[in-house]
Amino acid sequence: MKVVFLFDLDGTVAKWNCDASVEDTFAPGYFRNREPETKLIKAINKLAKDPEVLCNDIRALTSVYPIQYCKDDKKTWLKENELGDFAVEFIDYGQPKSDYIIDNENQVSILLDDFTKNLKDWETNDNCFGIKFLNGINSTKGTWEGLVLSANMDTDAMYFTLKAIINQLAKNYNIQKQKEVAWNNKKRAAQSCSFFVCLWQFSSYLNWNKLIKKRLLVINHRRYKNG
Ligand SMILES: [Mg+2]
Repeated sequence: MKVVFLFDLDGTVAKWNCDASVEDTFAPGYFRNREPETKLIKAINKLAKDPEVLCNDIRALTSVYPIQYCKDDKKTWLKENELGDFAVEFIDYGQPKSDYIIDNENQVSILLDDFTKNLKDWETNDNCFGIKFLNGINSTKGTWEGLVLSANMDTDAMYFTLKAIINQLAKNYNIQKQKEVAWNNKKRAAQSCSFFVCLWQFSSYLNWNKLIKKRLLVINHRRYKNG
């Protein structure tokens, strides 16, 4: 089983700049100068070092303008903010983040993101779960009713909350898979059982057939003798 934990950048590990215009966000170096969400960054690093966390893969998943310097800015920002050891996946702006999901049958994918639309879209896929990061700016409409993590928590509270969520989801997935295996075994047993029942019925039919034919022969023989 594979469990992947993906974290968003803008508004999640990098603080959202409410004063920036859309044009500002296109400027080279814009992202590189974003203020880090330090407590969350420390919590993610603690998760990655904890062998008890049932997660095989932690990486960043971020939307980006399809311009090379925007990608480079984000990579540099990750390196400069203690997240350089994590791989980063880029999705073009406008594309749903769920496009990243490749094998949701055999893995659990958990997304930490500040945008409800991303999370809801993510959760429409099997074995995909969202955690909303409440950064103090978002969540004004109250449309998200799922798992949350708040910027008001301290590092340990964030770390323990994420660890508990990841481990619980991993265990649930294992229980579900074990149930599927048990159900398939029962189905196979029932199928082979019905095969033997059919075989038995068929052999009984053949035996009866033989008996009937034998009986008919005796009757015919008597009739012949008497006739
Ligand atoms: Mg975001």
